Amino acid sequence: AAERPVKLDCRGVWKLYGPHIDRLLADPSNRPSFEDLQAAGVVGAVRDADVQIRQGEIFVIMGLSGSGKSTLVRCLSRLIEPSAGAIEFDGTDLLSMSEKDLIALRRTKVGMVFQNFALLPHLTVLQNVAFPLDVQGLNRATREARAMEMIRTVGLEGREQYYPRQLSGGQQQRVGIARSLVGEPELWFLDEPFSALDPLIRREMQDEFLRLQNLLHKTIVFITHDFEEAIRLADRIAVMKDGQIVQTATPEELILNPATDYVAEFTKHIP
Ligand code: ADP
Ligand code: MG
Repeated sequence: AAERPVKLDCRGVWKLYGPHIDRLLADPSNRPSFEDLQAAGVVGAVRDADVQIRQGEIFVIMGLSGSGKSTLVRCLSRLIEPSAGAIEFDGTDLLSMSEKDLIALRRTKVGMVFQNFALLPHLTVLQNVAFPLDVQGLNRATREARAMEMIRTVGLEGREQYYPRQLSGGQQQRVGIARSLVGEPELWFLDEPFSALDPLIRREMQDEFLRLQNLLHKTIVFITHDFEEAIRLADRIAVMKDGQIVQTATPEELILNPATDYVAEFTKHIP
């Protein structure tokens, strides 16, 4: 099969919250330090992040709660506007894209899964999974056939008429996964998709996720605060701390050559 060059490049992305951000970022050659930001009363959610996500890989962003993972991924999908930096998707400058093109991109090329599942409670499993297709001008039979296929793929056949509250956490997240994949996205963002699940179910979902990826070969950005999960799933890992990426490497490289003491703290518990 021909390689589709799905690539996401993000260079020097900043996301600050608070006063005087334009002034703080005015001089690209003299960007503020963590201390400068604190003194100015600004939250430096993400600072100077560089990531290159390659076709077909599972790229994991790993860091403790509050380290800026969700903010970075929201910038990458342009759910929020970065304060500075450049993001390219398949050679197109994402930051200068029109709102209309952006909406189209999110509907067709990008799938997202969130920690809290974000299902619509008054819709059935089938309706939830078919939901992203509603705007694509497909007829109902086609929408439902495509949704059913995804429901089977994630192992929920027989549950299509259930409502979210009638399902376990793991099953609800399978619905979230099916819904994020039904539009056949090329780029797949998952923000702590398994963090709310019990350890045993989490493990099962990780296996399931790897099985799906073997089948679908998406380009994936996967967020977790759990280093073991990162090691299990990742082709490459970016470790975040205080809004910055401290190291990007394969799991093996991270374990063998942690760039800082901070990274070494995570890796020393891995057998
Ligand atoms: P993570 O996903 O790694 O837990 P987040 O990206 O959610 O981290 O948050 C990173 C930092 O940015 C945190 O200190 C958080 O409080 C701050 N932050 C996130 N969103 C906002 C916002 N809308 N306004 C102000 N601060 C925010
Ligand atoms: Mg988060």
